[in-house]
Amino acid sequence: MGTDMNDWVKARVVGKHQWAAGLYSLQFDAPIADYQAGQYIKVALDIEGERIGRPYSLVNAPQSRPLEIYFNEIAGGPLTPPLSALKPGDEVWLTAHAGGIFTLETVQPAETLWLLATGTGLGVYLSILRTDAPWDLFKRVVLIHGVRVATDFTYAETLAEIGRRHADRFTFIPVVSREDCAGTLHGRITDLLTSGQLESRADATIDPATSHVMLCGNSAMIKDAKVILEARGLVRHRRHAPGHYTTEQYH
Ligand SMILES: Cc1cc2nc3c(=O)[nH]c(=O)nc-3n(C[C@H](O)[C@H](O)[C@H](O)COP(=O)(O)OP(=O)(O)OC[C@H]3O[C@@H](n4cnc5c(N)ncnc54)[C@H](O)[C@@H]3O)c2cc1C
Repeated sequence: MGTDMNDWVKARVVGKHQWAAGLYSLQFDAPIADYQAGQYIKVALDIEGERIGRPYSLVNAPQSRPLEIYFNEIAGGPLTPPLSALKPGDEVWLTAHAGGIFTLETVQPAETLWLLATGTGLGVYLSILRTDAPWDLFKRVVLIHGVRVATDFTYAETLAEIGRRHADRFTFIPVVSREDCAGTLHGRITDLLTSGQLESRADATIDPATSHVMLCGNSAMIKDAKVILEARGLVRHRRHAPGHYTTEQYH
């Protein structure tokens, strides 16, 4: 995290949505600096005299307001239980500057952009997909969202809107690991990657010549996916050494 990331500004909660038990979006009004789709801010509350801050990806497109984050409540976590209890009108602290390099800034054009998310890792892609960059750089975008139970699918309206705007270029693949659910793939994203089911559902292949892959969410998914991708010849993308995949690990 950059050194300019602890310049706190006061923000007001202007919207809140509960999607399911323990699953929330919060909207803020705050004067933060310009940022890129894919970046995160820190959100903090003063709890018993201590400022407790955690990073959260921004879900809104960089040019639109309000600012929005999407998160799940962790029982016993220092920040998310009080964050979940906030109401419109309440105040929080945000960092004035967003940070992070999980963006399309230095990514090379290719055939297909693959976006893999577990849980609340979906949010960062909504910001990216609401900008022009993915559609300028790639012919197709495949978004894969893995959740444990079907009630954890969220932002259906936003996804439908992206689908309407980019009809034949956007594919959304819902994946549920802990129950069978009609219209979704069943299992872990990484197992479906190994078995080839994700690619056959998308009618596309993941290889270094045609693909850029972004991975966001839990460490187990990212760790296993990296092994699978590297076995296929994809290398990590770096700002000064373009490659084929980038990662953002939430926990
Ligand atoms: C760069 C970055 C961006 C992030 N963006 C988001 C985001 O957009 N949305 C989001 O929900 N979280 C995001 N996180 C995680 C977030 O910062 C917090 O860790 C999380 O919200 C829990 O906060 P907490 O203070 O309640 O508990 P913490 O003290 O932060 O964590 C308590 C425990 O819960 C685990 N944990 C953290 N997050 C989760 C989770 N989502 N599911 C299950 N276990 C978890 C931690 O590994 C730890 O063991 C991001 C993390 C990083 C590093």
